[in-house]
Amino acid sequence: MTTTVPATTSTHPAVDHPTVDRPGVDRPGADRPGADLDELIRRDPGAHRVLTGDRPTGPLHLGHYFGTLQNRVRLQRLGTEMFVVVADYQVITDRDVADRLAEHTENLVLDYLAAGLDPDRATIFAHSAVPALNQLLLPFLSLVSVAELGRNPTVKDEIAHSGQSAVNGLMFTYPVHQAADILFCKANVVPVGQDQLPHLEVARTVARRFNERYPHPDGTGVFPRPDALLSAAPMLLGTDGGKMSKSRGNAVALSATADATARLIRGARTDTDRRITYDPAARPEVSSLVLLAALCQDRAPELVAEEIGDGGAAALKRTVTEAVNERFGPMRARREELAADRGYVRQVLRDGAERANAVADATLAEVRAVMGSV
Ligand code: ATP
Ligand code: MG
Repeated sequence: MTTTVPATTSTHPAVDHPTVDRPGVDRPGADRPGADLDELIRRDPGAHRVLTGDRPTGPLHLGHYFGTLQNRVRLQRLGTEMFVVVADYQVITDRDVADRLAEHTENLVLDYLAAGLDPDRATIFAHSAVPALNQLLLPFLSLVSVAELGRNPTVKDEIAHSGQSAVNGLMFTYPVHQAADILFCKANVVPVGQDQLPHLEVARTVARRFNERYPHPDGTGVFPRPDALLSAAPMLLGTDGGKMSKSRGNAVALSATADATARLIRGARTDTDRRITYDPAARPEVSSLVLLAALCQDRAPELVAEEIGDGGAAALKRTVTEAVNERFGPMRARREELAADRGYVRQVLRDGAERANAVADATLAEVRAVMGSV
């Protein structure tokens, strides 16, 4: 078991940090707007560290897969170091209690493993199991204003969908908590969906302000400024035409059976125009279905639309159902095999927590040192 984050192979001039490794600080392309992040990662995977995660609020869905999970697996295969957080404290941002938390957490891990994340290479952990990570929230909260927290459009959207009569403080502060999730391991790449961009901005702001307020003795900052990595489907729509979400009753789970998938897609919202086209701005629901089939088949969405032509919504839905079931059949079978051994899933989380704790302890020690609290 390693207790330090391994050194990176950045092509940038080496800075002598005997105990601390900070890949993002001198990462190629850091803070360079417009830099092709994907290309940078492909050229030098060792200079990048990835953090992503999900709330254990239900099974992962197609939006997760094409929005972020597929990218995670790809980055892992390229050889980037990867941390995957099961964001269990964040479940209670928009609900009173975390319902069936252990079950959802284990199911999330099963989804990860079935999709191809390798627990020997990816550190998969629940953030409630890593105390030092959560402690970073305190100095981080001092770096953002209440007005900034109130302006976050994703938080506003989630409040609108939460159905709660009162909004709790955790809801407003969770983007800062997410900054702690990202920065505890000094991740510089975060493969996410579009809804996460405002939160990434918070993490970047926190990193920048922390580095300015508490400069490292060697003149650099403690934290890298993380970049979001978006996929070709940064916002897959659900069956009701809104963002596909675990908690909005509009999702097609990765683990859904072929029949359930067919039923859900049959009920998806479309429009009255028989001719199928790919036009995300004018026809969001139809286009999201076209895109889904295209992603499953690794084809261009325009081609899929053209093939269906005047077939109408029924033909589109048949195409999508077949494409989804074909693409995810093997993953569902793998998941079922893995699900037979819950002990293994729990062991993955224990191992991940041990690795994450070592990294978080080192980062917190560094934070305390630059803040002068030792
Ligand atoms: P919840 O409804 O509980 O918030 P969710 O479906 O929004 O669940 P999260 O756990 O909040 O899922 O998000 C996990 C990751 O998946 C984030 O990076 C998010 O951007 C991405 N993601 C979620 N939904 C979609 C979607 N519909 N399309 C693309 N990416 C998505
Ligand atoms: Mg969400």
